[in-house]
Amino acid sequence: MENSQCSFCGKSKKQVKLLISGVDSYICDECVEQANHIIEQELSFYNEEENKKSGLNFSKKYPSEIKEFLDQYVIGQDEAKKQLSVAVYNHYKRLEHATIEDKEVEIEKSNILIVGETGTGKTLLAKTVAKLLEVPFSIVDATILTEAGYVGEDVESILTRLLQASDYDVKKAERGIIFIDEIDKIARKGDNPSITRDVSGEGVQQALLKLLEGSIVNVPPQGGRKHPDQKYIQVDTKNILFIAGGAFSGIEKKIAERLNANVIGFAKEVEKKIDEEDLLSNINAVDLRNFGLIPELLGRFPVITHLNKLDKEAMIRILTEPKNAIIKQYTELFRLDEVDLSVEEKALHQIVERTIELGLGARGLRTITENVLSDYMYNIDKNRGNKLIVSSIE
Ligand code: ADP
Repeated sequence: MENSQCSFCGKSKKQVKLLISGVDSYICDECVEQANHIIEQELSFYNEEENKKSGLNFSKKYPSEIKEFLDQYVIGQDEAKKQLSVAVYNHYKRLEHATIEDKEVEIEKSNILIVGETGTGKTLLAKTVAKLLEVPFSIVDATILTEAGYVGEDVESILTRLLQASDYDVKKAERGIIFIDEIDKIARKGDNPSITRDVSGEGVQQALLKLLEGSIVNVPPQGGRKHPDQKYIQVDTKNILFIAGGAFSGIEKKIAERLNANVIGFAKEVEKKIDEEDLLSNINAVDLRNFGLIPELLGRFPVITHLNKLDKEAMIRILTEPKNAIIKQYTELFRLDEVDLSVEEKALHQIVERTIELGLGARGLRTITENVLSDYMYNIDKNRGNKLIVSSIE
């Protein structure tokens, strides 16, 4: 024993504080410490990789960083961006928290509901968040969903799309984001829901509840309707973030009614003071309930936010500023054919004016721009090597 030495560093018993003996080898205290260090480093690297795989690499993104990222793609809508950033941050913090053992407080999830006219950026916001987090993302239209037993798609098919977006990697899908579009279209119609069964409305809202709150759901791998002989994939929705969007047209009236009811006697004045935009900024769950969403569903969307109508100035910025702005995309397309495209201020204004006439929000910008540039694209071969300046449009 006196002659024994550490099998790792070769130091003798006298040279170290402690020498631990194994079956036919020894290790000294210094080597134990060093090995410990290596294990720590390796494990943290391994965990990081694992977290990346499961979409948990998110923890380092603070709300302000998320908003900064959103700013690169989405113009305006500051309030919604802030609320969304905080909600998303909390959601993924909650996922980390869920891994802590013996925790006393259970953090509930914060699904988000965005109210805003068509083409104001609801889908874009949700999509951009998913891009930042590198988590699977899918969009589903609430109007195609029906209550089980009716023609249409069962609500579980929502998860089929997320599974497809994650190449059927269930673990990945379970940390994804689902955007439910046109949630306003499944509002309860009429005030008395019990007389007839409301196929597309309340029943679907009820069916959505279990998905939203978090449960293990049997998902048909190919979507569509469920049938008895089908094999299902089980997906836990506990950590899936749901973002719902809808135009809720006419909701301003409900908000105004509520606000006026709160200030009886001053109704006229309030009506005058609050214009449409400000009305929307007052939106809350009560208004959405009055619109026809059931309280149980609203309870599962603790974060409610709104998008503003896009004015002319915002539309011009959308055309030119975001990372993949439409004008930037066309400039690139032309550049590939050695045509140096530039669209002047006046033409931009005209494009925006036409888009506003369409009433499709910013979604119309691409169509109008495409129309304006289509002749130039048709004749692109004749313009190789030239500069093309679009100064105004007919
Ligand atoms: P919706 O609110 O109907 O979901 P989208 O988010 O799908 O609208 O927007 C349609 C398109 O219009 C987007 O792909 C994007 O090009 C553009 N767009 C809409 N709003 C904005 C915005 N605030 N900033 C930048 N682009 C926008």
